[in-house]
Amino acid sequence: MVKLEAAYKRLFVDIFVCRKCNTKIRANPRKIAEGKIKCRKCKGNVFRAKKKKATK
Ligand SMILES: [Zn+2]
Repeated sequence: MVKLEAAYKRLFVDIFVCRKCNTKIRANPRKIAEGKIKCRKCKGNVFRAKKKKATK
C-alpha cells in the first residue's frame, strides 16, 4: 500500500504540536530542535512530535 504510506507521511512526518495551544505546525525537525520555530498562535517554542496513535 504505497499510496497509504505516502498519505501517512504527509500527515505525520515533520508535523509538530505546540504544547501550549496544540496548534499543529509543519517544520523541519532540526529547526524544532534548535528552537527556531515559533508557534504562530501563542509564540511558544515548545513542541512535541505528532504521535501516531493507533485509533481503533
Ligand atoms: Zn502555541
